Amino acid sequence: MSVDLKKLQEEVMNNKIEKGFPINDMAFEFCRAHEELSEAFSKYNKSQDGVAEEFADVAIFLLGMCESLGYDLEKELVRKIEINKNRKYTKTKSPEGKDVFIRVKNEIDP
Ligand SMILES: [Mg+2]
Repeated sequence: MSVDLKKLQEEVMNNKIEKGFPINDMAFEFCRAHEELSEAFSKYNKSQDGVAEEFADVAIFLLGMCESLGYDLEKELVRKIEINKNRKYTKTKSPEGKDVFIRVKNEIDP
């Protein structure tokens, strides 16, 4: 199954409008998205039941915020995933002996 994220953005926004939820209070939207991610972490730490649903809630807030701000999340995801694929890293060790990845910056991706 393939999804059209732009269509989902519009669907999320239409649902918010129909329900009378606030759509232009971006500080509130950021907080709610963060809250949903925290709920996912809390559930993950307990039993992992319901984590995927909380991730969906996070995505729903992102879709709504993108629609409010005029962003095309699908386009941004494709663009950013490509950037990340092309990034180079050097690996070193932290003082505690854990692997630390340091991004090698370049002119295209400073
Ligand atoms: Mg939730």
